[in-house]
Amino acid sequence: MKRVDRYLLARVDLPDSHTLAVYRAHGGYQALEQVLRKPWKPEQVTQVVKDSALRGRGGAGFLTGLKWSFMPDPAKDPRPRYLAINADESEPGTCKDRVLMERDPHGLIEGCLVSAYAMRASTVYIYVRGEYRVSYARLQAAIDEAREAGLVGRRILGSDFSCEIWMHPGAGAYICGEETGLMESLEGKRGHPRPKPPFPAASGLWRSPTTVNNVETIFNVPFLVLRGADWFKALGTKGSTGNFLCGISGHVERPGVYELPFGVTAREILEQCAGGVWKGRRLKAFFPGGSSTGLLPASSVDVVMDHDSVKAAGSMFGTAAMIVLDETASIAQLMEVTLRFYDHESCGQCSQCREGTEWLHQIFRRIVRGQGRMQDLDLLVSLANGMAPAKTICALADAAAIPTLSAVKHFRAELEQCVRLGRDPLATATAQSPEHHEAHA
Ligand code: SF4
Repeated sequence: MKRVDRYLLARVDLPDSHTLAVYRAHGGYQALEQVLRKPWKPEQVTQVVKDSALRGRGGAGFLTGLKWSFMPDPAKDPRPRYLAINADESEPGTCKDRVLMERDPHGLIEGCLVSAYAMRASTVYIYVRGEYRVSYARLQAAIDEAREAGLVGRRILGSDFSCEIWMHPGAGAYICGEETGLMESLEGKRGHPRPKPPFPAASGLWRSPTTVNNVETIFNVPFLVLRGADWFKALGTKGSTGNFLCGISGHVERPGVYELPFGVTAREILEQCAGGVWKGRRLKAFFPGGSSTGLLPASSVDVVMDHDSVKAAGSMFGTAAMIVLDETASIAQLMEVTLRFYDHESCGQCSQCREGTEWLHQIFRRIVRGQGRMQDLDLLVSLANGMAPAKTICALADAAAIPTLSAVKHFRAELEQCVRLGRDPLATATAQSPEHHEAHA
C-alpha cells in the first residue's frame, strides 16, 4: 500500500487536540481567515468544492459541490438558509465521525463556518447521535471557545459574515440519520422521513432552503480551501477523490478507524491496517460499507475501495465501515441480528418496510432456530425485491433488503444446509434458544 498522506486524522493524536490553542497552533482557522479576509466570494468556495469532486461521506456518495449548488439564489429567495450537519452516525459498524468530533472538533466547526459562508447560511445545526456524549460535550466546548474568540456568532473575524452553530442531541433513532428524518427531529417532531420531492434545498428545515452534510464531508472543506482541488484530486481515484476514513471492525486483530486514499483494496485494509483476520482464521465474508451494504464473500477481498469499484463488485461503498466475518461465523445468525436491528428501527410509515423488515427478521430467526423451510430462501428474495430498490419513502427498506439479497445470493448453500439439518451448526448456542429470541423480539 502506498504511503498515506494523512490530513483528516493529522491532529487527532496530539495532546489536547480538541482545544482551540492546539488547533490554532497547527494551522486551524486559516481557511476561514483566508475566505473572510481575502475575501473569497461564496461561489468561489462552492467552485473549489465542485472542482474537487468531493463525494459525501455519509453513505450515498453524492457530489458535495453539486448538492450545495441546489440551494436557491439568495437574491431571488429571501428565506433563512440552514446547514445541518448529520452527526447521527448510527449505521452499524460506523464510528469514524466520532473520532473527528471527539478529537478534532474545531476542524468540524471551521468546516461548518466555511461551508455556511459558501451557501450563505447564517445558522448551522449539528445533530449528534444521542449516545455520543463525549462528542457532544467536546463539540459544545469547542463552539463556546470559538465564540469567545470571535470565530462563531456576529461579524466573524470582523467581517460581514455572521453565523451561529447550535448543537442538538438525537434520542437514539437510526432513522434520524436520514436527512429528512433528521430535519423532522430537529423541528421537535417524531423523526419520520419526509417524501421527496421537495428536496431539502428547496424546502428543508422550517420549509426553508437547507443542506444536510455528513461530518467527514464538511471536515474536508477547509483543506480544499487551503490546498486546492488539484491536490485533492491527486489523492484517490478518478471517481472518488481525496482520502476517506475506514472503520474496520468484527473478526480482525486491530479494529479501528484508519485514514486511507480511495483506491486501496479491501485486502490491504484488512491485512495491513487491521492485522488480518483474528486468531489466524480465514476470511468468510465482509460488509464493505456498513451493515446496509451488500455482503461480499471472501473471494471479493481484492475489490478496490472506491464507489464505482465496490458497486461493480455488487455492493456499495456506503460509510466505508468494513465489518469482517471469519470462517466460523453463521450467516443466518448474522442476518438475524442485522434484520432485528432494521425491524426495530423502521419508522413504520411504509408498509413494505414496516412489514417487510419484520418478515425478514422472523424468517432468519426461524432458520437460526432450525425451524426454517426450504421455500424460505425464495421467500426472502421475493420479500426483499418487494422492498427495494427505492420503493419506499426513505432508504431503510433498501438497507434491510440489500444485505438480505446478497446473503442469499452468496451463501444460499449454507442457509439451505441449516434448513436441511434442522439446526444452524455455526450459530452460537444462545442464538438458537427460543428464550434468546423472545428476549430480543
Ligand atoms: Fe419509515 Fe421504513 Fe418508510 Fe423509511 S422506508 S419512511 S424507515 S417505513
